[in-house]
Amino acid sequence: MNETRPPPPQHRRLARQPAPDIKQPERRFVGIPVSDGVAIGPVFTAAEPEPVITRQKILAADIAAEGARLEAAVAQSRKQLAKLRARLTVLPEESQAEIAPLIDAYMRMLGPSRLMRGVRRRIEETLLSAESAVIAEADAIGTAILEQAPPGASAEDLAGLRRRADEINEIGRRLVRNLTRAPFRSFAGLPDGAVLITESLRPADAALLDPSRLAGVATEEGGADGHTAVMLRALGIPAVLGAAGVAQAIRPGDVAVVDGIEGTVVLNPSAASVAAARRAVTAFVRERQRYARLRRLPAETEDGEPVELQANLELPIELPLIVQSGAVGIGLLRTEFLFMNRETVPDEDTQAETYRSIVEAMNGDPVSIRVLDWGGEKEIDALSAAGFVPEVADANPALGVRGLRLLLRRPELLETQLAAILRAGVAGPVRITLPMVTTVDEVRTARDVLDRVVRRLRRRGERLPERLPPLGIMIETPGAALSADALALEADFFAIGTNDLTAYTLAVDRADSDVADLYDPTHPAVLRLIQFATEAALRMRKPVSVCGEMAANPRLTPLLLGIGLRSFSMTASAVPKVKQAVRSVAIDDCVRFARHVMEQSDPDTIHRMVLAFSQDA
Ligand code: PEP
Ligand code: MG
Repeated sequence: MNETRPPPPQHRRLARQPAPDIKQPERRFVGIPVSDGVAIGPVFTAAEPEPVITRQKILAADIAAEGARLEAAVAQSRKQLAKLRARLTVLPEESQAEIAPLIDAYMRMLGPSRLMRGVRRRIEETLLSAESAVIAEADAIGTAILEQAPPGASAEDLAGLRRRADEINEIGRRLVRNLTRAPFRSFAGLPDGAVLITESLRPADAALLDPSRLAGVATEEGGADGHTAVMLRALGIPAVLGAAGVAQAIRPGDVAVVDGIEGTVVLNPSAASVAAARRAVTAFVRERQRYARLRRLPAETEDGEPVELQANLELPIELPLIVQSGAVGIGLLRTEFLFMNRETVPDEDTQAETYRSIVEAMNGDPVSIRVLDWGGEKEIDALSAAGFVPEVADANPALGVRGLRLLLRRPELLETQLAAILRAGVAGPVRITLPMVTTVDEVRTARDVLDRVVRRLRRRGERLPERLPPLGIMIETPGAALSADALALEADFFAIGTNDLTAYTLAVDRADSDVADLYDPTHPAVLRLIQFATEAALRMRKPVSVCGEMAANPRLTPLLLGIGLRSFSMTASAVPKVKQAVRSVAIDDCVRFARHVMEQSDPDTIHRMVLAFSQDA
C-alpha cells in the first residue's frame, strides 16, 4: 500500500498536501474512456526515475546541434506547462491560486533567465552536453540560493529559500527528462491492485505495465485512439485518459475508482461511490462471461454471411487472450512495440524468433505482420541511439519521416525485418503490411526490396515458405484512400487504419486530449474515404479489412458491413462483442442502413443513426 508514502517531489510541490489522515471529500474527474472495466485501488503516482545521462561532454563541432537539442527540450517543457496551466480551471479555486503562480515561475525560468543563460554558457564554453549543463547549472544556482541564508535565519526564511532552490531543480528535472526522453514515472514498486494516476504516459511506458498487478490507469493527457490507449486496451487495463486535473489533485492516501466504461475517475470515493463501483465490476465480469460463450460460435450474420474477425497484437503477452477471444488469426501485428524498451535494435535472428513464436501460437491461422511504423508518438529510443532517427524530433512528426518513409530511407532496417518475417513464414501463413503509404511508387520500391531479400535468403540457403507472403498496405492517409484504385493494382491487400485516417482527414492529433472532441471516425469525410478504398479493393478482388480501433466498436459493425467490409481486426477483448453484433444483423439491412448514413453530411445525425440502429438490432 502506498498511503503513507510521501508523494514524489513534483506532486509535493505542485499540490501542497494536507495531512494524509484527514478525511478528504470525494473528487470526480471526467476524461475519455479508453479501456473497458472498472478499477478500485490505492493511487500510485510512481517515483520519478533518476535520469540516465549517457553523454557528459560534446565536441566543439557539436555546439550548435546541442543548442538545438536544448531549445527543443525548452519548447517541449513550455508546452507541457502551458497544458497544465490551461487545465487548472477544473480545480477548486484555492488549488488554482496555489499552483498557477508556480507554473508561471517555471515558465519564466524557461525564458531569458539566469538558469538558461548559465546552461547555454556551459554548453558553449565547457563543452558539456545539454543535460549535463542543465544539471550543473541548476545545482549551482540552488546551492547559491541556499547560501544566501544569513546566520540565524528564521525557519520560515530557510523554508522560503529551500522552496526557491527546489523550484530551480524541478524545472531542471523536467528539462532533463525531455532531453533524455526518460519516462515521467518509474513503475518499480507499484503495489498490487494499485491505480496508476499520472500526468502523461508514453506508449513505451504503457507497454511496461503489468496487467496482473495494476488495477487501472488515469492520465491528464491522451486521446481515445492514441497508441497509449491502444496499448492499455490490449493489456485489458481499465483506463481513462485526458482527465484534466486528476494528477494535480492527488493527495497522499487517496483511493481511486477508475471507470473505463463511463470515463470517470473518482478520488477518495464515498462509501456510496465504492458500492456503485463494486456493482459495476460485478456487472462487467458477468458480461465478459456471457461473451466468452460466443467463442466457439461462427462469426456470421443472421443471413449466413461469414465475417472474418481477427485480433491486433502489440506484445507477445497478449497471445493467450487472442487465442481465448475466438479471433481467427492476427490482422495487425504492430511490430514497433518489439523495438521499444530496449537499448539496441533487434537483429534478424531475434526478430525471426519472436515472429516465429507468434505464428506458431496461432496454429495455422494467418498473421499479418506490419513492418516498423516509427513516428508520431511512437518514440523508439533504440532507433535514435543507433542513429536511424534524429535525436531531435521533426517539427511536425506526424507529417515527417515516419512509417514506410523511414524504412525506404534506411533500407537496412526494412531488409532485416523482411528477412525475419520471411523466415517466420515457414511456421505458418504470414502476410506483410506496409505502414503509412501515400504513393504507388513506395509500394513498388518496397516490393523490390522484398524481392531482393528473397534472393539473398535463397543464396544463403535459408528455408522460405513455399508461397511467398502477400505484400499489402495500410490505408491510413487520405492520400492513400483516394489513390486506392491505383494502389489496388500494386498491393496484394488493404488494411484500413481508421485511427490515422481519422487523424489526418480531420487534422486532429489522435493522442491530444485538447482536441479529442473533434476526433470522429464516423465523420462523413472519413466514412467516404473508407467507402472509396473498400470499393476500389472489391473491384480489383483484393482482400480489404479494417484494423483501426473503429473495428472494435460493435455499434459501427453494421455500418462497416453495409459499406462492403467483411474482415475486421481489433483488440482481443472486443472480438466477442463484435461477433455478437455480426450475428444479430442481416446484410441487406446493413446495406440499406449504410446507404442512408452515407447520404448524411452532419456528424451528429450519423451518431444518432448509429445509436438507433444498434439499439434496434
Ligand atoms: C491506424 O492508424 O488505424 C492503425 C491501425 O495503425 P496504428 O494505430 O498503429 O497507427
Ligand atoms: Mg496508423
